[in-house]
Order: sequence, then C-alpha cells, then structure tokens
Amino acid sequence: MKGDIEADVAVIGAGATGAAVAWRLASAGLRVVCAERGDWFDYAKVPADETTREQLQSGPLNANPNIRQVAADYPIEDDASPIKPLIGNGVGGGTSALAKRDGQASADVVWLVLLTGARRGEVLQSKWSDFDLESATWVKPAATVRTNRLHRVALSQAAVAVMGRRRERSNSSSPWVFPGCVRGHRVISRSSGEHCAEMPI
Ligand SMILES: Cc1cc2nc3c(=O)[nH]c(=O)nc-3n(C[C@H](O)[C@H](O)[C@H](O)COP(=O)(O)OP(=O)(O)OC[C@H]3O[C@@H](n4cnc5c(N)ncnc54)[C@H](O)[C@@H]3O)c2cc1C
Repeated sequence: MKGDIEADVAVIGAGATGAAVAWRLASAGLRVVCAERGDWFDYAKVPADETTREQLQSGPLNANPNIRQVAADYPIEDDASPIKPLIGNGVGGGTSALAKRDGQASADVVWLVLLTGARRGEVLQSKWSDFDLESATWVKPAATVRTNRLHRVALSQAAVAVMGRRRERSNSSSPWVFPGCVRGHRVISRSSGEHCAEMPI
C-alpha cells in the first residue's frame, strides 16, 4: 500500500487477536489500520479431495512455517526446542490453518470410533474389503484385533452413512479406508489420527 494513511491506531497482524482489537477499537469510533504481512488466503484453492489435500499438507498447507515455506513465512529457529511452531501468516492468522487441515478424514475416524466402539488403530487400519455396506457389516481381520480373533461388527445406519461419505470423497484406488499419501505408508499417519481430538465433527 502506498501513500500516507491517517489513523488513530495501527494494529499489526490480522489474526484472531488483531481482528478482535481492530473491531473493538473501530466500533468505539477510532480510525484503525490493520497491517498484515501475509495475503488473503484463497480457500477456494484448497483441493476438495482428501488425498491431494493430505499431500499438500506435507508442504504448502502445513501448519509449521518451517515446512510450509510460502512467501509470507519466515524461518523460526526451533532446533533446541521440543515445541514446533504452528502458525498461519496471512489474513486470519492461525485460524486460517484450521480450514486447511484435513478435517474430514480425522473427523470420520472419530465418528467411526464413536459409532462402532472400535479402537482408533482398528479404524485407521481398516480396508474397504473388510466392509459390506449392503449388509451393514464390518469384519475385522484377526491380525488387526487385539484379541487376535476375527471380529464381526454390525454397523449402525450412522456408521454406514460415514462410510458412504468416505467412499464418495475418496478419489484413490487405495484398499485402505484412510490411505496415507507418503510412499510406503499404507494408512493415514498416526499424527493425522491424533488430529482427531482437535477436529470439529
Ligand atoms: C493447526 C492449528 C490448529 C488450531 N486449532 C485451534 C482450535 O481448535 N481451537 C482454538 O481455539 N484455537 C486453535 N488454534 C489456535 C488459534 O488459531 C490461535 O490461538 C489464534 O490464531 C491466535 O491468534 P493471534 O491473532 O494471537 O495470532 P495469529 O493467528 O498467529 O495471528 C498473527 C498474525 O500476525 C501476522 N504477522 C506476524 N508478524 C507480522 C508483522 N511483522 N507484520 C504484519 N503482520 C504480522 C501474521 O501473518 C498473522 O496473520 C489452532 C492453530 C493452529 C495453527
């Protein structure tokens, strides 16, 4: 932006805090300028299919700026720290990261855990061939069950609906219900599974 701007207050950063402060001060009648280092995030550019989105999450859609490395990012020295930065640089700040995350796959894991009583690992390792959605049945192979015995589960209508939704959204020919995107990884990563706890369902 060029030229002088007259304002009473300059707010640096258009994340959640900057937005709240700017809104509050502007509502009180002050002239507020909000300066943001990043651009507006184009949510329309986030791919709809989960496999592509997961792939981009290893790069430009990652929440860690050291991995993401897009124009508005700057390196953060974290070698000596066990804590890794998770921030968004752009209008919306960190909250924009939420919209870029693989919410639906993680949410579907949570749904299936809740609706079937299965362990998270059983859900993450399940294959399409384990399910017969016509008869609403999930046959868990002995190798994936802690007791080492084949386990037949009757699925509720809600669980069948979740599986149907997964089928529609998945564009991959993977045998896994929650396929991973990194070569050699059969299923969605454990850390992705851990996102489950954060995700709105
Ligand atoms: C992956 C992820 C998941 C999250 N999940 C949740 C959740 O489930 N629930 C929840 O409540 N919170 C969640 N959060 C946290 C929430 O997003 C943050 O608490 C919130 O964004 C903090 O707001 P903020 O404005 O303080 O900082 P930020 O959102 O980080 O905003 C700071 C802004 O300042 C800008 N900026 C920085 N330096 C400059 C500069 N020099 N000049 C101009 N602009 C600058 C940045 O580009 C950014 O836009 C999550 C965050 C992430 C990353």
